[in-house]
Amino acid sequence: MSNCGVASRRASEQMILDGRVRVNGAVIRELGTKVDPDKDSIIVDGKRLEVQPKHYYLFNKPKGVITTSSDDQGRATVMDYFKKETDRIYAVGRLDQNTEGLLIMTNDGELANILMHPSCLVDKTYEAKVKGHIVNSVLQKLADGVELADGITAPADVCYNGYDNQTGLTSVEITIHEGRNRQVRRMLEFFGHQVHSLRRVQYAFLTLSGVKRGAYRSLTREEVAELY
Ligand code: URA
Repeated sequence: MSNCGVASRRASEQMILDGRVRVNGAVIRELGTKVDPDKDSIIVDGKRLEVQPKHYYLFNKPKGVITTSSDDQGRATVMDYFKKETDRIYAVGRLDQNTEGLLIMTNDGELANILMHPSCLVDKTYEAKVKGHIVNSVLQKLADGVELADGITAPADVCYNGYDNQTGLTSVEITIHEGRNRQVRRMLEFFGHQVHSLRRVQYAFLTLSGVKRGAYRSLTREEVAELY
């Protein structure tokens, strides 16, 4: 019911307890009653509930694509990759234009709100390649917290993946649970490291495994349940 915009989750529960909901003609008062929106008739206060199917996609956003539904400058947006999907979907959070990687797309506003709420501590892992050597003391400071203009960053997991002599780039993986604007870039730039490339490789337990750049796959029922 809350997914269909009838009321909040809690208010919907109260409506069930108050006997205002009928499933296949019978009043149900038990919370957690399982229904199949495709098969069961659900009537709330005498009105049939219209169930909009929910969609959940794991998208591998390419670099250069904007996380928005439309762009008045005609730049490529994430929606260009979902032209065959007819229901309106949107991104959960955003990745910068020049950041690539894992983005969840859905039309489930409730899940999007949960995942984007500041109290939701979803781990997000980024693989960054930066100019120059990152010394140990900087790796430690990235992990402990960096004093950015909008406050010190929460502790992060930082994994050094080596320095490439040929390219002069250091590869590092940073896992954060905050979602501040351009956070990883700003953390690295704070120490003078220009970001050469940035890719989100993991979101909660989800990875890019099997999803090529510019492609997407549906989340499984179990994955969606685990995100909730
Ligand atoms: N941090 C950034 O700097 N950019 C992103 O797109 C995401 C996290």
